[in-house]
Amino acid sequence: MTDDTPLCLACSQDLEFNGMLRSKREDDGRQTCRSLWSGAERHLWMA
Ligand SMILES: [Zn+2]
Repeated sequence: MTDDTPLCLACSQDLEFNGMLRSKREDDGRQTCRSLWSGAERHLWMA
C-alpha cells in the first residue's frame, strides 16, 4: 500500500504536513509557496 505521505530522506520515517510556508525565490524575487514537512527526528523538509 502506498499513500501520499512522503518519507524523510534522512530517517525514512513518515513525515507530517506542517503547513505552507511562503518564501521569496532568490532567482526572480517572486513569492512562492512551499509545503513544510516535519519528521520524527525533528527533521524539516520543504517541498
Ligand atoms: Zn527524519
